[in-house]
Amino acid sequence: MAKILIIEDNVANMKLATILLSNVGHVVICAVDAESGLTLARSELPALILMDVQLPEMDGLTATALLKHDPATATIPVIALTAMAMQSDREKSRLAGCDAYIAKPLRYQELYATVDTLLAERKAQAPPVATHPQERYTS
Ligand code: MN
Repeated sequence: MAKILIIEDNVANMKLATILLSNVGHVVICAVDAESGLTLARSELPALILMDVQLPEMDGLTATALLKHDPATATIPVIALTAMAMQSDREKSRLAGCDAYIAKPLRYQELYATVDTLLAERKAQAPPVATHPQERYTS
């Protein structure tokens, strides 16, 4: 189980992604534009971010680049979501710093596999810190 931030302006896609991730025990937090998504990423420090590429105002790749340039959020894996299944988008998302790329419509097998892989990789890289900080103060 992990805290996952979904930044997506399409109501149907947001609903689907939220249901799919909640069903396997993840805690989902949602933002419908890049600005509020960046704010939530910094305050909530989610374990992973699903980032729609096409967002109003600031696009998802610009937002990803900002997250990846901020030391506080740079290590959070970002999965780009786009309806445009083109090789150029794949390359653009990689250059912006996205860790993975999923073409919409969202397929649950691909979503789960990508999320699981990135969470496992991050866990393997993370320094050994207490999972529950409050435990440090109870004994
Ligand atoms: Mn969109």
